Amino acid sequence: MHFFLKRCSRLPEWLQPSASLLAAALLALLLVIIPQQASAQPIAGSDQEHSSETAATLRPGKRLVSWITLTRNFPGAFATHGPATSRRVALTFDDVPDNDYTPKVLDILAREKVKATFFIVGERALKHPDMVQRIVAEGHAVGNHSYDHTSYASLSMSEFKDQVERTNKLLHSQLGFTPRFIRPPYGEILPEQLLWTQSRGYYVVNWNVDTEDWKGLGPDQILRNVRRTLGPGSIILQHAGGGIGEDLSGTVKALPRLIQLLKQKNYELVTVPELLGKPEELESIRLY
Ligand SMILES: [Zn+2]
Repeated sequence: MHFFLKRCSRLPEWLQPSASLLAAALLALLLVIIPQQASAQPIAGSDQEHSSETAATLRPGKRLVSWITLTRNFPGAFATHGPATSRRVALTFDDVPDNDYTPKVLDILAREKVKATFFIVGERALKHPDMVQRIVAEGHAVGNHSYDHTSYASLSMSEFKDQVERTNKLLHSQLGFTPRFIRPPYGEILPEQLLWTQSRGYYVVNWNVDTEDWKGLGPDQILRNVRRTLGPGSIILQHAGGGIGEDLSGTVKALPRLIQLLKQKNYELVTVPELLGKPEELESIRLY
């Protein structure tokens, strides 16, 4: 905006707009810029999570609402970051568990004495129950990342609830508790779905630092991506469970360097429940 004003002041006098014209131009510019920024938010903060499939799978008559709007409309029930008032950040790992990348990430976290948050896909938990146990036994927090990684924006309300509840039922049987935190696949969730999660006491958590590691990036690029939007309260998105043909070796290589970088910058590494100040477990009274 400052740049715009400076440019105008250099115009010859006969070309300089009047104050009212300038004000109108500024207003028009703001009207153009603000909605674009708002609608760009989910795409900017995306993981595989936001591919070209997004628009195609959206249910007719539905539209995605920006994460800025969701944060404003669902305080305490939707967040992309924690409070910016203290130097605390949370590492999060999606699409777990598998038998390849999940143990490698857990080994590094154990060595570095860092606790993170893992978002579990139900059908993967069914295949790798030991790995779910290991995640929790080593002191990490867990959340629900759907049953089969379908975009919630493509589902009917009952299909959406089924994704959440099937996974919770399974995790309850494996862990003895129901996780409060939910991360929707691709970060996509509709306002009416959030109304339901809010009414049940769930907390939907996306991210504001996207490593884009799922693209098979090397550690240097992953670290550059982190530096782009890192700040106090950041929630950092990574993956620790690979799909078919997916290469997360860059994530594994980057992780010790990322932890070192965060510690050098005096960030305390905490779990999502710690960062957002809510217990990891859903109070059982909410379910009945
Ligand atoms: Zn995912």
